[in-house]
Amino acid sequence: MLITADKLTHFVEQIFVQMDASQTFAHEVAAHLVEANLKGHDSHGIGMTPAYVHNISTGLLKADAEAEVIRDNGAVMVIDGQFGFGQVVGRQAADIVIERVKETGVVCAGVRNCHHLGRIGTYAEHCVNQGLVSLHMVNVVGHDPQVSPWGGRERRMTTNPFACAVPVAGDDPVVLDMATSAVALGKVRVAYNAGNQVPEGALVDHEGAPTTNPGVMYEEPFGALGPFGKHKGYGLAVMCELLGGALAGEWTAQPGNERTNHIVNHMFMLVVDPEAFGGVEKFQTEVKEMVAYLHSTTPAKDFDKVRVPGEPERESMADRLANGIPIDENTWAGVVKAAQRAGLTAEQISELTT
Ligand code: NAD
Repeated sequence: MLITADKLTHFVEQIFVQMDASQTFAHEVAAHLVEANLKGHDSHGIGMTPAYVHNISTGLLKADAEAEVIRDNGAVMVIDGQFGFGQVVGRQAADIVIERVKETGVVCAGVRNCHHLGRIGTYAEHCVNQGLVSLHMVNVVGHDPQVSPWGGRERRMTTNPFACAVPVAGDDPVVLDMATSAVALGKVRVAYNAGNQVPEGALVDHEGAPTTNPGVMYEEPFGALGPFGKHKGYGLAVMCELLGGALAGEWTAQPGNERTNHIVNHMFMLVVDPEAFGGVEKFQTEVKEMVAYLHSTTPAKDFDKVRVPGEPERESMADRLANGIPIDENTWAGVVKAAQRAGLTAEQISELTT
């Protein structure tokens, strides 16, 4: 099906309101999820709604929790998300950091105990919109691992995302935002729901042999998702685990920690005000010239043009705002079921979605 962003946002917002979230928080979460769909990341879009509804009902997700500063050493801060909606406490943490960077020029923050933060690029974009450079290294805990280390067949980590954004004066920023797994797990879920295969090189089966069948992540005997970029992607994933998990969150995927079917993100966040370096003009000139230089590259065979990170998301957003957001049948059925579970009647659902 195809649905407009506004309609989808309002529908998902009503689901969270039914689950006793405030209208403001429900709207923020729904808008974040729908923006992920708009930007082409269906893995982190409204398909997450059933998991959020489930986690609110089991008490794992605290719909009214807010971010709280628990350690403050000036340019080093620890902020606890208290298992609130990641979309809310993650943005609140970014706001706290942005405010502090105005005084200190640089802030290194550990943002811990956030229920699923969703698309990490959102927080990078929040900082970059203020003219700041930001870097985010995140781990994911609270449930069984899904990603095997390079060269291994068992699961030891999750999809540990990395994001970094750089402002471009008078233009769109450069935003790198990615899972360190070969593909985001949500994309495997979307492929599984849609009955599609995943690209080669992403999954191994229970014997460690390569497979394109997303079922190995959901049906026994289980396989694993591999890291992107062989040993190098694996190395970055380990650093996300150690900086996001051990340093920021004091909670990694090692088996001594609880796994209760929760989705918890810990985020190591480094935010820099280019002004603090002094030469903002020179920095921005270099950024602009370099981006133009990259864009001037002749496309390789089968490529239409050379882009910088962040552009595919903007292109997807322009397209989906104009033409609607496609949602596959299984994902939609899951969201409708979550709406019913939250207490919306069939008539209300139909009214909200047609
Ligand atoms: P992806 O592979 O689609 O894109 C990764 C990056 O590559 C993006 O910055 C994109 O702009 C860039 N890119 C893509 N094509 C490009 C091209 N042709 N030229 C230049 N740059 C290009 O993203 P992904 O790895 O599937 O991650 C999807 C989302 O999942 C991200 O938003 C991430 O934050 C999120 N995620 C969240 C969690 C969590 O626990 N909260 C975990 C994993 C992933």
